[in-house]
Amino acid sequence: MLEKDRISYFYDGDVGNVYFGPNHPMKPHRLCMTHHLVLSYGLHKKMEIYRPHKAYPIELAQFHSADYVEFLHRITPDTQHLYASELTRYNLGEDCPVFDNLFEFCQIYTGGTLDAARRLNHKTCDIAINWAGGLHHAKKCEASGFCYINDLVLGILELLKYHARVLYIDIDVHHGDGVEEAFYFTDRVMTVSFHKYGDLFFPGTGDIKIIAKVIETYLPGAIVLQCGADSLARDRLGCFNLSIEGHAECVKFVKKFNIPLLVTGGGGYTKENVARCWAVETGVLLDTELPNEIPNNEYIEYFAPDYTLKVPNLNMDNLNSKTYLSSIKVQVMESLRSIQHAPGVQMQEVPPDFYIPDFDEDELDPDERVDQHTQDKQIHRDDEYYEGDNDNDHDDGAR
Ligand SMILES: [Zn+2]
Repeated sequence: MLEKDRISYFYDGDVGNVYFGPNHPMKPHRLCMTHHLVLSYGLHKKMEIYRPHKAYPIELAQFHSADYVEFLHRITPDTQHLYASELTRYNLGEDCPVFDNLFEFCQIYTGGTLDAARRLNHKTCDIAINWAGGLHHAKKCEASGFCYINDLVLGILELLKYHARVLYIDIDVHHGDGVEEAFYFTDRVMTVSFHKYGDLFFPGTGDIKIIAKVIETYLPGAIVLQCGADSLARDRLGCFNLSIEGHAECVKFVKKFNIPLLVTGGGGYTKENVARCWAVETGVLLDTELPNEIPNNEYIEYFAPDYTLKVPNLNMDNLNSKTYLSSIKVQVMESLRSIQHAPGVQMQEVPPDFYIPDFDEDELDPDERVDQHTQDKQIHRDDEYYEGDNDNDHDDGAR
């Protein structure tokens, strides 16, 4: 019998409490809904659940400019009127508003992706999931498309400490431009993004299978899969017609290669469908098929009127003709032929995992942490619980 994959899953309930504003489509509450759906199906019993550490500013500055990180850290809704020129410079405002606890929000979702990468690096799991992560548009010195800190770039940088090559796959309806841009000049990261481009849609199950050729040619040591759910049918912003089954098929397909896999969320603006999709995909990663009827949970009312996992597709024309898809395939195969086969990397000293600045202790708010801890205890088994900030998250000791 095949050995089961060891899965680590990262979640901090605080990530769902922030609010982008009444007219903003991004609703972090979808993360709480996803988590409760995962719990209601009992999936937490089949994997290890961790609360991620909150990424330190200095960790964020491994990719982002220090001044941008510092500004995000400092800015609040009450003070932003004093910083008009900085807001423009860092592209903060309409799409990327300043809201309460913005920085902490970034720290949590990025901490999850970093912890996920580190556990994969140390082989303490085969697959790591952080649905709060996947903010693929953020740039080195500015926010973009609802994304402030690019956790994916930081996670990939972490994976590159242990893996010669990392493959990034993006099935969000939008192009994963921030990640592509960050690694444009290195052959150690290949980015493949499936998205809407021009007036052509990408509905149906998509042609994710070209990915097989990519993996065969590139031989990545680890894969990062961004599962933006705005490519699903009925998304508030997206206009694709992917079914949850089609979306999850991509996850199943990538999982089959048995390469260390970091899975994140991303876009997704019809929150009950985002939760459905990521719960189903957690199931896929755990080789567990979920019954269609949604078990009772805190957010059950959002799944009315059917209370089922499956959502019917819309009746839409498939604008990706067979000819169009095969012409894309030919182009991709051509480009793959022209790239160097599995480019090598000179071995260098591996930088340390974790640099803990000495001011971090002061920043912890003990009351807040106890509260969250008590909350978490109600939903997690104690023996599955750990605090990413503690020293003992370095499973293999310090290096
Ligand atoms: Zn998107």
